[in-house]
Amino acid sequence: MTQTQPVSSTTPAVPRGFLLPCLRCGELGALTLRLDSMTEDDAIHCPECDADYSLSDAQETVAAWSALLAWVQLAPPLREKAQFGSWPRPAA
Ligand SMILES: [Zn+2]
Repeated sequence: MTQTQPVSSTTPAVPRGFLLPCLRCGELGALTLRLDSMTEDDAIHCPECDADYSLSDAQETVAAWSALLAWVQLAPPLREKAQFGSWPRPAA
């Protein structure tokens, strides 16, 4: 079991938080989250572009990116840069 450090007024503040981009405008660190109703369509608000969207919207975006990134991982490594006009490559 780990012990937690007591918080005191002499303890330097460690910045904490989530530096996430807005799904609409890309602004970093501007998003606000409604703590009173996180399941609403306007649970996330961006004051930069005045967009409201839901956590489900964010989850769909993350799922789409996750699928793309998983697919990219399946690509074979390139041994050398392919050149147009040399496919198929002549035997060495
Ligand atoms: Zn925005």
